[in-house]
Amino acid sequence: MSNRILPPATIGILGGGQLGQMMALSAKMQGYKVVVLDPDPECPCSSIVDTLITADYDDEGAFKRLCLLSDTVTYEFENVDVTCVEKFSKEHRIPQGSECLKLSQHRITEKDFARRCGLQTVDYRSINSLEELAECKKMNFPILIKTCRFGYDGKGQWLFNSPEELDEIELSWPNEYIAEEKCRFEKEISVVICRSENNTVAFEPFENTHSNGILAVSLNPANVSESLKKQAIEWTKILAEKSNYIGTMAVEYFVVGPQLYFNEMAPRPHNSGHATIEGYSISQFDLHIHAICGFMLEEPRLLQPTVMMNLLGQDIKKLNEWLSKEDAIGTHVHLYSKTKCVNNRKMGHLTFTGATLDQALKHSESWRT
Ligand code: AMP
Repeated sequence: MSNRILPPATIGILGGGQLGQMMALSAKMQGYKVVVLDPDPECPCSSIVDTLITADYDDEGAFKRLCLLSDTVTYEFENVDVTCVEKFSKEHRIPQGSECLKLSQHRITEKDFARRCGLQTVDYRSINSLEELAECKKMNFPILIKTCRFGYDGKGQWLFNSPEELDEIELSWPNEYIAEEKCRFEKEISVVICRSENNTVAFEPFENTHSNGILAVSLNPANVSESLKKQAIEWTKILAEKSNYIGTMAVEYFVVGPQLYFNEMAPRPHNSGHATIEGYSISQFDLHIHAICGFMLEEPRLLQPTVMMNLLGQDIKKLNEWLSKEDAIGTHVHLYSKTKCVNNRKMGHLTFTGATLDQALKHSESWRT
């Protein structure tokens, strides 16, 4: 993998959603050709890529075609078939690899891995039977029970305030579950780093607020101590290195006083990192493209503090009315070209900037209120 992939070579992306779209835009700006595999012919990537392979993600033949058409292949989401990645990596360049991907697909293996790497997590147990579910009554309540696989944006998780409430739950076997102590965090932060074969670089941590389990607002830089920032970045770099990961990745943490707790990791660019497009000398997407093409990475320089707010389906109606107001001047609008506008679906995001984070927050107030 030591050879550099130079434009106009072809970058293949598995997944044509908003992350794929922002990767593709970055790749196109850098002179690469882009081929995308997605089941939806109208996916966000469809209007900007050179070739769209319309097929299901688990269509091995289509994945193979993507590899054959591409000089390097990347994926934009973590529910990719690990077996395919392992198999095709033998003959094709898929720099993100399968190790970090496999770990991130299962909440228990992910947290076990984080602990093996020396990171702190909340108390957790795996639930594979009614006996193991009963054992969870000994945990410190409140607890959350989550599906080990395929959970995202707060889906597939339930809160229990007392052991008695556990008697009500109906789990569907043979699905695997995790029980986690509910962390009384003061803040949630994420760290976005990028690792290449040559070096690893990091953005300042992001401070995130979720609503109904979906990221709503992300501030950068996070308002946490320098020592916490340093530790969070160090931990994230360790996870990337120990899982032989190449590309942009993100890790979410809970902050409790001076303590950090690992929550989860994503082997891909991250929603909280979108504001790197305006906030930094180089974005998480540009860095990702550089990394998967074998380049040495530049250390991202903070240009201006940012407030990033997701636009969900229910926000779109009022967007145009607000955009015609003077208050909106200077706002960076990103819409992902999704054809179906559905409640709680991520349709785009807004980025507000300022000379200070307070200024950026002030700028965002007229949209928030
Ligand atoms: P997850 O899909 O695990 O990232 O969960 C989505 C969101 O739910 C997180 O960003 C937190 O806001 C909340 N959450 C998840 N797990 C926990 C936990 N163990 N303690 C407290 N809050 C949690």
